[in-house]
Amino acid sequence: MSYLAKNYNRKKISFKYGKGSYLFSNDKKKYLDFVQGIAVNSLGHAHPKLVKTIRDQSKKLWHVSNAFQIPEGEKLAKKLCQKTFADYVMFQNSGAEATEAAIKVARRYFYSIGKPNKNRILCIKNSFHGRTLAAIFASGSKKMIEGFGPKVPGFDHIEFKNSKPRFPNLRNKIKKNTAAIMVETILGEGGVKPIPNTCLKYLRKICNEKKILLICDEVQSGISRSGDFFAFEQSQIKPDITPIAKGIGGGFPIGAVLMNKKVAAGMTPGTHGSTFGGNPLAMTVGNAVMDIVSSKKFLNNIKKSSKYFFLKLNKLKEKYPNIIKEIRGRGLLIGVQLYTDQTKFIKKLMDNRLLTIRAAENVVRILPPLNVKIQEINKALEIIDKVCSELK
Ligand SMILES: *Cc1c(COP(=O)(O)O)cnc(C)c1O
Repeated sequence: MSYLAKNYNRKKISFKYGKGSYLFSNDKKKYLDFVQGIAVNSLGHAHPKLVKTIRDQSKKLWHVSNAFQIPEGEKLAKKLCQKTFADYVMFQNSGAEATEAAIKVARRYFYSIGKPNKNRILCIKNSFHGRTLAAIFASGSKKMIEGFGPKVPGFDHIEFKNSKPRFPNLRNKIKKNTAAIMVETILGEGGVKPIPNTCLKYLRKICNEKKILLICDEVQSGISRSGDFFAFEQSQIKPDITPIAKGIGGGFPIGAVLMNKKVAAGMTPGTHGSTFGGNPLAMTVGNAVMDIVSSKKFLNNIKKSSKYFFLKLNKLKEKYPNIIKEIRGRGLLIGVQLYTDQTKFIKKLMDNRLLTIRAAENVVRILPPLNVKIQEINKALEIIDKVCSELK
Protein backbone atom coordinates (compact mmCIF):
# COMPACT_ATOMS: atom_id res chain seq x y z
CA MET A 1 0.00 0.00 0.00
CA SER A 2 1.41 3.36 -1.04
CA TYR A 3 0.25 6.67 0.34
CA LEU A 4 1.72 8.53 -2.63
CA ALA A 5 -0.80 9.85 -5.12
CA LYS A 6 -0.91 7.79 -8.27
CA ASN A 7 0.11 10.49 -10.73
CA TYR A 8 3.21 8.52 -11.76
CA ASN A 9 3.48 5.16 -13.40
CA ARG A 10 6.56 4.13 -11.43
CA LYS A 11 8.84 1.22 -12.28
CA LYS A 12 9.08 -1.38 -9.54
CA ILE A 13 12.59 -0.51 -8.53
CA SER A 14 14.22 1.70 -5.94
CA PHE A 15 17.80 2.67 -5.25
CA LYS A 16 20.02 2.71 -2.24
CA TYR A 17 22.85 4.83 -3.54
CA GLY A 18 24.55 6.09 -6.67
CA LYS A 19 28.10 6.69 -7.77
CA GLY A 20 28.95 8.53 -10.98
CA SER A 21 27.14 6.86 -13.86
CA TYR A 22 25.87 4.00 -11.72
CA LEU A 23 22.89 3.38 -9.47
CA PHE A 24 22.70 0.55 -6.95
CA SER A 25 19.23 -0.80 -6.27
CA ASN A 26 17.81 -1.96 -2.97
CA ASP A 27 17.70 -5.48 -4.37
CA LYS A 28 21.47 -5.26 -4.86
CA LYS A 29 21.71 -4.78 -8.61
CA LYS A 30 24.01 -2.33 -10.39
CA TYR A 31 22.50 -0.19 -13.12
CA LEU A 32 24.12 2.07 -15.67
CA ASP A 33 22.06 5.21 -15.19
CA PHE A 34 21.56 7.02 -18.48
CA VAL A 35 18.53 8.91 -17.21
CA GLN A 36 20.30 10.83 -14.43
CA GLY A 37 17.07 12.19 -13.01
CA ILE A 38 16.12 13.34 -16.53
CA ALA A 39 19.19 15.42 -17.39
CA VAL A 40 19.45 16.71 -13.84
CA ASN A 41 22.57 15.07 -12.40
CA SER A 42 25.05 16.73 -14.76
CA LEU A 43 27.99 15.23 -12.89
CA GLY A 44 26.46 11.86 -12.07
CA HIS A 45 25.66 10.65 -8.58
CA ALA A 46 27.54 11.71 -5.46
CA HIS A 47 30.24 13.71 -7.22
CA PRO A 48 32.95 14.25 -4.56
CA LYS A 49 33.18 18.00 -5.16
CA LEU A 50 29.41 18.45 -4.84
CA VAL A 51 29.27 16.23 -1.76
CA LYS A 52 31.95 18.35 -0.11
CA THR A 53 30.31 21.61 -1.18
CA ILE A 54 26.93 20.69 0.24
CA ARG A 55 28.45 19.29 3.43
CA ASP A 56 30.53 22.42 4.08
CA GLN A 57 27.71 24.84 3.28
CA SER A 58 25.16 22.90 5.34
CA LYS A 59 27.16 23.74 8.45
CA LYS A 60 27.12 27.45 7.64
CA LEU A 61 23.84 28.65 6.16
CA TRP A 62 20.93 27.02 4.35
CA HIS A 63 18.29 29.62 3.85
CA VAL A 64 17.73 33.31 4.26
CA SER A 65 15.05 35.46 2.72
CA ASN A 66 15.56 37.36 -0.49
CA ALA A 67 14.92 40.40 1.67
CA PHE A 68 18.69 40.24 2.28
CA GLN A 69 21.81 40.15 0.13
CA ILE A 70 22.84 36.62 -0.86
CA PRO A 71 26.50 36.70 -1.98
CA GLU A 72 26.44 33.06 -3.22
CA GLY A 73 23.60 34.01 -5.60
CA GLU A 74 25.43 37.14 -6.75
CA LYS A 75 28.37 34.92 -7.61
CA LEU A 76 26.36 32.39 -9.60
CA ALA A 77 24.41 35.10 -11.43
CA LYS A 78 27.69 36.76 -12.44
CA LYS A 79 29.08 33.49 -13.77
CA LEU A 80 25.91 32.82 -15.77
CA CYS A 81 25.93 36.31 -17.26
CA GLN A 82 29.63 36.23 -18.10
CA LYS A 83 29.18 32.91 -19.88
CA THR A 84 26.03 33.85 -21.84
CA PHE A 85 23.94 36.54 -23.55
CA ALA A 86 22.31 37.44 -20.24
CA ASP A 87 22.69 40.63 -18.22
CA TYR A 88 20.49 39.59 -15.30
CA VAL A 89 19.33 36.42 -13.57
CA MET A 90 16.33 35.64 -11.38
CA PHE A 91 16.52 32.42 -9.34
CA GLN A 92 13.67 29.95 -8.94
CA ASN A 93 13.41 26.33 -7.82
CA SER A 94 12.28 24.39 -10.86
CA GLY A 95 11.86 24.39 -14.61
CA ALA A 96 8.16 25.17 -14.67
CA GLU A 97 8.69 28.09 -12.33
CA ALA A 98 11.49 29.32 -14.56
CA THR A 99 9.36 29.16 -17.72
CA GLU A 100 6.47 30.89 -15.93
CA ALA A 101 8.84 33.60 -14.75
CA ALA A 102 10.13 33.93 -18.33
CA ILE A 103 6.57 34.58 -19.48
CA LYS A 104 6.13 37.15 -16.71
CA VAL A 105 9.34 38.93 -17.74
CA ALA A 106 8.15 39.13 -21.36
CA ARG A 107 4.72 40.50 -20.43
CA ARG A 108 6.09 42.90 -17.89
CA TYR A 109 8.53 44.29 -20.46
CA PHE A 110 5.74 45.29 -22.81
CA TYR A 111 3.70 46.61 -19.90
CA SER A 112 6.65 48.76 -18.83
CA ILE A 113 6.98 50.32 -22.28
CA GLY A 114 3.30 51.18 -22.37
CA LYS A 115 2.04 48.24 -24.43
CA PRO A 116 0.12 46.16 -21.89
CA ASN A 117 -2.00 44.54 -24.58
CA LYS A 118 1.02 42.92 -26.11
CA ASN A 119 0.92 39.85 -23.89
CA ARG A 120 0.29 36.70 -25.91
CA ILE A 121 2.97 34.03 -26.15
CA LEU A 122 3.36 31.98 -29.31
CA CYS A 123 4.50 28.42 -28.50
CA ILE A 124 5.16 25.21 -30.34
CA LYS A 125 2.21 22.83 -30.19
CA ASN A 126 3.06 19.78 -28.03
CA SER A 127 6.25 21.22 -26.66
CA PHE A 128 7.06 20.95 -22.97
CA HIS A 129 7.52 23.77 -20.49
CA GLY A 130 6.51 22.11 -17.23
CA ARG A 131 3.34 21.20 -15.37
CA THR A 132 2.02 24.38 -13.79
CA LEU A 133 -1.26 25.71 -15.12
CA ALA A 134 0.32 28.31 -17.40
CA ALA A 135 3.04 25.91 -18.55
CA ILE A 136 0.62 23.17 -19.61
CA PHE A 137 -1.49 25.59 -21.61
CA ALA A 138 1.71 26.99 -23.11
CA SER A 139 2.54 23.49 -24.31
CA GLY A 140 -0.96 22.99 -25.63
CA SER A 141 -0.61 19.25 -25.32
CA LYS A 142 -4.00 17.60 -25.05
CA LYS A 143 -2.73 14.94 -22.69
CA MET A 144 -1.36 17.48 -20.24
CA ILE A 145 -4.29 19.89 -20.22
CA GLU A 146 -7.14 17.39 -20.12
CA GLY A 147 -9.26 17.97 -17.03
CA PHE A 148 -7.35 21.02 -15.90
CA GLY A 149 -9.54 23.73 -17.36
CA PRO A 150 -10.58 26.45 -17.47
CA LYS A 151 -8.00 27.23 -20.07
CA VAL A 152 -5.29 29.68 -19.10
CA PRO A 153 -5.55 32.31 -21.81
CA GLY A 154 -2.68 34.05 -23.56
CA PHE A 155 -1.09 31.27 -25.55
CA ASP A 156 -1.14 30.63 -29.29
CA HIS A 157 0.46 27.74 -31.10
CA ILE A 158 2.55 27.02 -34.12
CA GLU A 159 3.53 23.67 -35.51
CA PHE A 160 7.10 22.46 -35.69
CA LYS A 161 7.33 20.08 -38.61
CA ASN A 162 9.85 17.42 -39.47
CA SER A 163 9.84 18.60 -43.06
CA LYS A 164 10.19 22.03 -44.62
CA PRO A 165 8.80 24.56 -43.99
CA ARG A 166 9.50 23.79 -40.34
CA PHE A 167 7.21 26.55 -39.05
CA PRO A 168 4.44 26.78 -41.61
CA ASN A 169 2.46 29.99 -41.65
CA LEU A 170 4.53 31.53 -38.85
CA ARG A 171 4.21 35.13 -39.97
CA ASN A 172 0.41 34.98 -39.92
CA LYS A 173 0.41 33.54 -36.43
CA ILE A 174 2.10 36.64 -35.05
CA LYS A 175 -0.63 39.09 -34.14
CA LYS A 176 -0.59 42.66 -32.95
CA ASN A 177 -0.81 41.45 -29.35
CA THR A 178 1.91 38.80 -29.59
CA ALA A 179 4.65 39.52 -27.07
CA ALA A 180 7.01 36.64 -27.61
CA ILE A 181 7.77 33.38 -29.31
CA MET A 182 8.74 30.67 -26.82
CA VAL A 183 10.46 27.50 -28.02
CA GLU A 184 12.51 24.67 -26.59
CA THR A 185 15.82 24.87 -28.44
CA ILE A 186 15.80 21.08 -28.44
CA LEU A 187 12.37 19.56 -27.89
CA GLY A 188 13.13 17.05 -25.16
CA GLU A 189 9.90 15.38 -24.06
CA GLY A 190 8.62 15.96 -27.57
CA GLY A 191 11.04 13.42 -29.02
CA VAL A 192 14.56 14.89 -28.77
CA LYS A 193 14.19 17.17 -31.78
CA PRO A 194 16.67 20.03 -32.17
CA ILE A 195 15.34 23.11 -33.91
CA PRO A 196 17.80 23.48 -36.80
CA ASN A 197 20.17 26.46 -36.64
CA THR A 198 18.68 28.03 -39.76
CA CYS A 199 15.23 27.90 -38.17
CA LEU A 200 16.46 29.51 -34.96
CA LYS A 201 18.00 32.26 -37.06
CA TYR A 202 14.70 32.64 -38.87
CA LEU A 203 12.83 32.90 -35.55
CA ARG A 204 15.27 35.55 -34.34
CA LYS A 205 14.91 37.47 -37.58
CA ILE A 206 11.12 37.47 -37.40
CA CYS A 207 11.18 38.49 -33.73
CA ASN A 208 13.42 41.43 -34.60
CA GLU A 209 11.25 42.39 -37.52
CA LYS A 210 8.02 42.27 -35.49
CA LYS A 211 9.70 43.75 -32.42
CA ILE A 212 8.72 40.83 -30.21
CA LEU A 213 10.81 38.75 -27.82
CA LEU A 214 12.40 35.35 -28.28
CA ILE A 215 12.35 32.95 -25.34
CA CYS A 216 14.51 29.82 -25.67
CA ASP A 217 13.60 27.26 -23.02
CA GLU A 218 16.86 25.50 -22.18
CA VAL A 219 15.65 23.75 -19.06
CA GLN A 220 16.66 20.40 -20.56
CA SER A 221 19.11 21.30 -23.32
CA GLY A 222 21.06 23.91 -21.38
CA ILE A 223 24.02 23.86 -18.96
CA SER A 224 26.31 22.08 -21.42
CA ARG A 225 23.96 19.15 -22.09
CA SER A 226 24.02 19.87 -25.86
CA GLY A 227 27.82 20.15 -26.02
CA ASP A 228 27.61 23.94 -25.95
CA PHE A 229 26.68 25.79 -22.79
CA PHE A 230 23.36 26.61 -24.45
CA ALA A 231 22.07 24.73 -27.48
CA PHE A 232 21.19 27.96 -29.31
CA GLU A 233 24.84 29.05 -29.31
CA GLN A 234 25.50 26.89 -32.37
CA SER A 235 23.12 29.04 -34.38
CA GLN A 236 24.80 32.23 -33.19
CA ILE A 237 21.50 33.78 -32.19
CA LYS A 238 20.77 35.37 -28.85
CA PRO A 239 17.37 35.00 -27.22
CA ASP A 240 15.99 37.72 -24.98
CA ILE A 241 15.00 35.36 -22.20
CA THR A 242 16.09 31.84 -21.27
CA PRO A 243 14.67 29.71 -18.49
CA ILE A 244 17.05 27.08 -17.09
CA ALA A 245 16.79 24.43 -14.38
CA LYS A 246 17.53 20.69 -14.51
CA GLY A 247 21.32 20.53 -14.97
CA ILE A 248 22.38 23.64 -13.06
CA GLY A 249 21.89 22.13 -9.59
CA GLY A 250 23.50 18.77 -10.37
CA GLY A 251 20.59 17.17 -8.48
CA PHE A 252 19.74 20.05 -6.16
CA PRO A 253 16.53 21.83 -7.25
CA ILE A 254 17.45 25.13 -8.89
CA GLY A 255 15.68 27.09 -11.59
CA ALA A 256 16.48 30.48 -13.06
CA VAL A 257 15.52 32.96 -15.73
CA LEU A 258 18.27 34.61 -17.70
CA MET A 259 17.41 37.85 -19.48
CA ASN A 260 18.98 40.71 -21.34
CA LYS A 261 19.12 44.28 -20.09
CA LYS A 262 16.26 45.47 -22.28
CA VAL A 263 13.63 43.13 -20.87
CA ALA A 264 15.03 43.18 -17.34
CA ALA A 265 14.04 46.84 -17.07
CA GLY A 266 10.44 45.79 -16.38
CA MET A 267 11.33 43.71 -13.34
CA THR A 268 11.30 46.43 -10.72
CA PRO A 269 11.21 45.75 -6.94
CA GLY A 270 8.14 43.79 -5.92
CA THR A 271 7.22 42.50 -9.38
CA HIS A 272 8.31 38.92 -8.76
CA GLY A 273 9.57 36.80 -5.91
CA SER A 274 10.22 33.33 -4.59
CA THR A 275 10.65 32.23 -1.00
CA PHE A 276 13.15 29.48 -1.69
CA GLY A 277 14.54 30.68 -5.00
CA GLY A 278 18.27 31.41 -4.82
CA ASN A 279 18.89 30.39 -1.21
CA PRO A 280 22.52 30.05 -0.05
CA LEU A 281 22.55 26.24 0.00
CA ALA A 282 21.20 25.98 -3.55
CA MET A 283 23.46 28.74 -4.82
CA THR A 284 26.59 27.17 -3.37
CA VAL A 285 25.82 23.91 -5.15
CA GLY A 286 24.99 25.82 -8.35
CA ASN A 287 28.35 27.58 -8.22
CA ALA A 288 30.18 24.27 -7.83
CA VAL A 289 28.32 22.72 -10.77
CA MET A 290 28.83 25.80 -12.91
CA ASP A 291 32.59 25.90 -12.29
CA ILE A 292 32.96 22.37 -13.61
CA VAL A 293 30.47 22.18 -16.49
CA SER A 294 31.16 25.54 -18.09
CA SER A 295 34.88 25.09 -18.66
CA LYS A 296 36.13 24.77 -22.23
CA LYS A 297 37.89 21.52 -21.49
CA PHE A 298 34.75 19.99 -20.00
CA LEU A 299 32.67 21.09 -23.01
CA ASN A 300 35.25 19.63 -25.37
CA ASN A 301 35.01 16.33 -23.55
CA ILE A 302 31.22 16.32 -23.91
CA LYS A 303 31.63 16.94 -27.64
CA LYS A 304 34.07 14.03 -27.87
CA SER A 305 31.84 11.62 -25.94
CA SER A 306 28.87 12.75 -27.99
CA LYS A 307 30.59 12.29 -31.33
CA TYR A 308 31.64 8.79 -30.36
CA PHE A 309 28.19 7.87 -29.03
CA PHE A 310 26.39 9.15 -32.15
CA LEU A 311 28.84 7.40 -34.48
CA LYS A 312 28.33 4.06 -32.73
CA LEU A 313 24.57 4.46 -32.42
CA ASN A 314 24.36 5.18 -36.14
CA LYS A 315 26.31 1.96 -36.73
CA LEU A 316 23.66 0.14 -34.69
CA LYS A 317 21.00 1.81 -36.78
CA GLU A 318 22.66 0.37 -39.89
CA LYS A 319 22.91 -3.02 -38.24
CA TYR A 320 19.24 -3.01 -37.22
CA PRO A 321 17.49 -1.02 -39.95
CA ASN A 322 14.12 -2.55 -39.09
CA ILE A 323 14.26 -1.54 -35.46
CA ILE A 324 16.03 1.81 -35.26
CA LYS A 325 14.58 4.57 -37.40
CA GLU A 326 16.71 7.55 -36.45
CA ILE A 327 19.36 8.72 -34.02
CA ARG A 328 18.48 12.22 -32.86
CA GLY A 329 19.64 14.99 -30.64
CA ARG A 330 22.82 16.77 -29.83
CA GLY A 331 25.57 16.49 -27.26
CA LEU A 332 24.48 14.08 -24.56
CA LEU A 333 20.77 14.66 -25.11
CA ILE A 334 20.23 11.67 -27.36
CA GLY A 335 17.14 10.03 -28.82
CA VAL A 336 16.98 6.62 -30.41
CA GLN A 337 13.80 6.63 -32.44
CA LEU A 338 12.29 3.19 -33.00
CA TYR A 339 9.80 2.09 -35.61
CA THR A 340 7.43 0.86 -32.93
CA ASP A 341 6.42 1.72 -29.38
CA GLN A 342 9.49 1.92 -27.17
CA THR A 343 8.03 0.57 -23.90
CA LYS A 344 9.25 -3.00 -24.38
CA PHE A 345 12.65 -1.81 -25.59
CA ILE A 346 13.18 0.35 -22.51
CA LYS A 347 12.07 -2.54 -20.28
CA LYS A 348 14.57 -4.87 -21.95
CA LEU A 349 17.36 -2.32 -21.57
CA MET A 350 16.47 -2.10 -17.89
CA ASP A 351 16.49 -5.91 -17.54
CA ASN A 352 20.03 -5.68 -18.90
CA ARG A 353 20.88 -2.99 -16.31
CA LEU A 354 20.74 0.08 -18.53
CA LEU A 355 18.32 2.83 -17.50
CA THR A 356 16.85 5.09 -20.19
CA ILE A 357 13.62 7.05 -20.48
CA ARG A 358 10.94 7.59 -23.09
CA ALA A 359 10.15 10.67 -25.16
CA ALA A 360 7.39 11.23 -27.74
CA GLU A 361 7.49 9.69 -31.24
CA ASN A 362 8.74 6.23 -30.10
CA VAL A 363 11.97 7.71 -28.85
CA VAL A 364 14.21 6.12 -26.24
CA ARG A 365 15.92 9.05 -24.53
CA ILE A 366 19.52 8.62 -23.43
CA LEU A 367 20.89 11.10 -20.90
CA PRO A 368 24.25 10.08 -19.47
CA PRO A 369 26.01 12.30 -16.97
CA LEU A 370 28.09 14.91 -18.77
CA ASN A 371 31.29 13.40 -17.38
CA VAL A 372 30.43 9.91 -18.67
CA LYS A 373 33.41 7.67 -19.48
CA ILE A 374 33.95 6.08 -22.88
CA GLN A 375 33.90 2.60 -21.37
CA GLU A 376 30.48 3.37 -19.88
CA ILE A 377 29.24 4.44 -23.30
CA ASN A 378 30.62 1.18 -24.69
CA LYS A 379 28.78 -0.78 -22.01
CA ALA A 380 25.51 0.96 -22.96
CA LEU A 381 26.13 0.30 -26.66
CA GLU A 382 26.68 -3.39 -25.92
CA ILE A 383 23.36 -3.57 -24.09
CA ILE A 384 21.49 -1.71 -26.84
CA ASP A 385 23.06 -4.03 -29.42
CA LYS A 386 22.01 -7.09 -27.39
CA VAL A 387 18.42 -5.88 -26.98
CA CYS A 388 18.15 -5.08 -30.71
CA SER A 389 19.43 -8.55 -31.57
CA GLU A 390 16.85 -10.14 -29.29
CA LEU A 391 14.02 -8.16 -30.83
CA LYS A 392 15.09 -8.70 -34.42
C1 LIG B 1 11.70 19.52 -17.54
C2 LIG B 1 11.37 20.71 -18.34
C3 LIG B 1 10.61 21.76 -17.79
C4 LIG B 1 9.97 21.68 -16.43
O1 LIG B 1 10.85 21.51 -15.39
P1 LIG B 1 10.31 21.08 -13.94
O2 LIG B 1 11.51 21.26 -13.06
O3 LIG B 1 9.84 19.68 -14.04
O4 LIG B 1 9.21 22.00 -13.58
C5 LIG B 1 10.43 22.88 -18.58
N1 LIG B 1 10.93 22.96 -19.82
C6 LIG B 1 11.65 21.98 -20.36
C7 LIG B 1 12.20 22.13 -21.74
C8 LIG B 1 11.89 20.80 -19.65
O5 LIG B 1 12.56 19.79 -20.21
